[in-house]
Amino acid sequence: MDFLFIPVDDESMARERRKAKLLKQSAWWKNCLARGTCSYCGKRVHPSQLTMDHKIPIVRGGESSRSNCVPACQECNRNKENLPAEMWKRCLDGQPSG
Ligand SMILES: [Zn+2]
Repeated sequence: MDFLFIPVDDESMARERRKAKLLKQSAWWKNCLARGTCSYCGKRVHPSQLTMDHKIPIVRGGESSRSNCVPACQECNRNKENLPAEMWKRCLDGQPSG
């Protein structure tokens, strides 16, 4: 399964973005936020500061599904951008903390 080379058309991207919007209103997502932890760096974050991140970005063929969406702090979300989660985790591991 190599998601990196799936060409994603605008229509699919728009569809997944709409799904993400709906997912954000679900009880499941509210539970994720209530935990208040970034799923990448593990930092405790206020729920209002958590963002929805796609482990496999939509632009790389990722879906707006429970298995592909995780709460991330704004810092991780910004730094990760369109990297797949596995690559981003490797970046995090390679950085000295602080
Ligand atoms: Zn984080």
